[in-house]
Amino acid sequence: MKTPLSYAGSGQPVSTDTPIDNPLLHARSVSRALNIVGDRSSLLLVYWVFLGVYRFTDLLNRTGLSRSLISNRLKRLEEQGVLERRVSGGQGSEYHLTEMGKDLYNVALAIIRWDKQWHYTPGCVTHHLVHTACGKEFMPLPRCGSCQGDFDARDCHWHYGPGEPDAELTANTQSRRSRIAPSALGTEHPIMDRSLEILGDRWTALTIAAAFYRVRTFNGFQQALGIATNILSDRLSRLTALGIFTRGSQARGDYRLSEEGLSLFPVIVALMQWGDRWLSNDSGPSLVLVHRQCHSVLDPLMVCDQCGQALAFGDFHL
Ligand SMILES: [Zn+2]
Ligand SMILES: [Zn+2]
Repeated sequence: MKTPLSYAGSGQPVSTDTPIDNPLLHARSVSRALNIVGDRSSLLLVYWVFLGVYRFTDLLNRTGLSRSLISNRLKRLEEQGVLERRVSGGQGSEYHLTEMGKDLYNVALAIIRWDKQWHYTPGCVTHHLVHTACGKEFMPLPRCGSCQGDFDARDCHWHYGPGEPDAELTANTQSRRSRIAPSALGTEHPIMDRSLEILGDRWTALTIAAAFYRVRTFNGFQQALGIATNILSDRLSRLTALGIFTRGSQARGDYRLSEEGLSLFPVIVALMQWGDRWLSNDSGPSLVLVHRQCHSVLDPLMVCDQCGQALAFGDFHL
């Protein structure tokens, strides 16, 4: 059983403003988190388990993935510590979220927030989550755990943490985007289709993360990610077509996050925080985010916009 590490939110003010030379090598938490969830099939399975679908056969019906692919990904998620297999009498195996898996709820809430903000769909069940404590339909709001103030990308800066950076980004095994037929997702879950576009492919998500570290040019992305130019071209055009990036008019070849892209910041931060807690070694994260308003290491939390209470796993229902 894995136990979480805690570094962020120590309340220690961080004062120095050392520039980060190659932030992505330091942001290994994001990269490691994406090694687990930055795969379309794995993300889809975790999504359904989050919604309470636990049995192999039900996952088979819901996802439309092949039996062998599901077996492979469930086994991998179990090895990675996100899911645990339970044998229920005569019913076959069930897959449940471990503590580490449940802790992904902040990532889920950040995705829901982004999707509801930009792609509100009346029939999408996850856009109508109810906070059990106040009984109201809510929008998750990102807050700084230290000062309770809100934050976005402009309110934070990166700072070296105590951990050593990785020598290089860990090898990518899923460079090709695999398509999952939208019909496999069902019309009540358009959110999944959209978040798969962003997170269900490791390179796409890392390209977005790099933009938050102020990487803007094709060469800059290429250097920061060590990615093949054809893959990078594909991801940049795709993200521009999706409206996540805009091309600057003055500097040709400049890629900047649009307002919609910038609002993915809490998603990247939640992924980083999850990676810091569960995938760092004892030396801690090599990169931390500092909230400008209170000078503390950012320990983000999500609160209910209706009653202001902090949200935890299991505090909301469809
Ligand atoms: Zn703060
Ligand atoms: Zn509430």
